[in-house]
Amino acid sequence: MARLSWLVVLGLMGFGLAQADKIALLQPVGQSPLQVVTTVNFVTDLVQQVGGNRVRVEGLMGAGVDPHLYKASARDVRKLQQAHLIFYAGLYLEGKMMELLERLPKAIAVTDAIPRERLIRPAGGFEGQYTYDPHVWFDVPLWTLTVGQVERALSQADPAGAAYYRANAQAYRQRLGELDAFIRRQIGQVPAGQRVLITAHDAFAYFGRRYGLEVRGLQGVSTLSEAGTRDVQQLADFIVRRQIRAVFVESSVPRRALQAVVAAVRARGFEVSVGGQLYSDSAGSPGTPEGTYVGMMEHNIRTIVNGLLGRPL
Ligand SMILES: [Zn+2]
Repeated sequence: MARLSWLVVLGLMGFGLAQADKIALLQPVGQSPLQVVTTVNFVTDLVQQVGGNRVRVEGLMGAGVDPHLYKASARDVRKLQQAHLIFYAGLYLEGKMMELLERLPKAIAVTDAIPRERLIRPAGGFEGQYTYDPHVWFDVPLWTLTVGQVERALSQADPAGAAYYRANAQAYRQRLGELDAFIRRQIGQVPAGQRVLITAHDAFAYFGRRYGLEVRGLQGVSTLSEAGTRDVQQLADFIVRRQIRAVFVESSVPRRALQAVVAAVRARGFEVSVGGQLYSDSAGSPGTPEGTYVGMMEHNIRTIVNGLLGRPL
């Protein structure tokens, strides 16, 4: 027993060291604010929450941009090279930028803070480069682990701000704890048999696992491959069989695929409505409530609960 625990501890240390190294090698910049470049906009928000006024953050991907498909422009590459520090989601969410990001010593994957055994390996194999489902931000406690990763990297690059980053990180973790409790309360309003979430692509597996929803996506975990006719028919059968009232579109995925499902359901003599738009792989526009991670998650859960209960939006 004791030996087994040591093996576990050593395994965890090995993992921790590999991750710590990229952060440990960061040199103090000696300048404030730090110039930071990020990829997806909810990582931009994360870094702003922890970095506050000691960072100037520029996100490459705005609202509605699909990170699976995004390619870095020559201008982006210049920005990445000039930044003091780069944060990205990782787990191949930014599929077409991963090679570039992994090679940059200043680029930190925030999801490296999450132990691999807590990640979801999609059943039935995975498209291309994905070993794990990258959509971890839908499990709020898992996403909360990324806060420490950002705090450590910022403190390494800007040691004078360490106490400030620590305080910000602590306050933000508290906020995320409240968000998690809010989502659980909201889901509690939906009768257990109706807790089914159908979306355009398979981004919500972590959400389903954490909050007790059955999830189905028309497309796979990435948006790279298009849904076929067979996928549409199968999903329509499922909706009719389970008498599901609403499906949900995503801000970063075109609507037309799900509209085919709605039509196929109607052809079977059943009505399913589009229950509203969810923010899946991109938060909303800056300056709107949905422009932050917390706001995007609150919007999603309200939209899901109203849609499943057939309440007007
Ligand atoms: Zn996705």
